[in-house]
Amino acid sequence: MNAFDDRVALVTGAGSGIGRAMAVAFAKAGARVVAADVDRARAEETAAVVGEAALAVTADVGDQASVAALVEAAIGAYGRIDVLCNNAGILDTMALPAEISPEVWDRVIRVNLTGAFLVTHAVLPHLLRQGRGAIVNTASEAGIRGGAAGAAYTASKHGLIGLTRSVAWAYAKDGIRCNAILPGPTATNIADGATFDPAGAARLSPVLALGELMAQPEQMADAALYLASDAASFVNGAIVPVDGGWSAG
Ligand code: NAD
Repeated sequence: MNAFDDRVALVTGAGSGIGRAMAVAFAKAGARVVAADVDRARAEETAAVVGEAALAVTADVGDQASVAALVEAAIGAYGRIDVLCNNAGILDTMALPAEISPEVWDRVIRVNLTGAFLVTHAVLPHLLRQGRGAIVNTASEAGIRGGAAGAAYTASKHGLIGLTRSVAWAYAKDGIRCNAILPGPTATNIADGATFDPAGAARLSPVLALGELMAQPEQMADAALYLASDAASFVNGAIVPVDGGWSAG
């Protein structure tokens, strides 16, 4: 008997990095996995890596109609959702508050914060109907400090921690738990093709250098697996750094 036998895990941003590692880990633990990503090829690649326990769905978490179709596809295929990992996220340009463009602000908040809200909002009725469910949000060190990323990413991840606590508090009596992991620097594709504001990057780089211990995505997946599992049955509203001790310093 595996910890997630007969359970269904929906992972957003599952096409790469931490999300792919989560999809693989949940499937290894017995779950059927809905691997959602805005990039179709990446979602399909993850599903191919996982094997027959996975369903690839192309979905933009920042778009309500796309999220509705995602949840419909998950319920249509498996009939239930037990675990939701709100993991999809993008970096900002490392721009400080005076320099960040409203366009970058809107894009980062839409994916990192509104995206997690939209998926949570669409999945909650199913968790409430089942009387059970676990949500794990991928926040960041930037969710608990001001100098770990640019203004938009920092605000989005602080907001995601607020959403985590709101859901944890609101549905504790309904058998639904909601926790967040805060990855430190992790070897993924998140910085591919990024362009950084020079002033912001220069100000932030000494702080980021402190977190130079680089994690592997599987180490984030392990933490998410624990928080979603029955081993964490009384862990709710926890904001868990997974950073090798960076935030302890
Ligand atoms: P990644 O770029 O390797 O993977 C992110 C995936 O999300 C990509 O496949 C991308 O296509 C997908 N995605 C982007 N926008 C989307 C959207 N609108 N809808 C659906 N999918 C979308 O990056 P990663 O590092 O694995 O990032 C996963 C999460 O971890 C993010 O929330 C990120 O903020 C967080 N995080 C990462 C680090 C790090 O150092 N890598 C540190 C702290 C937090």
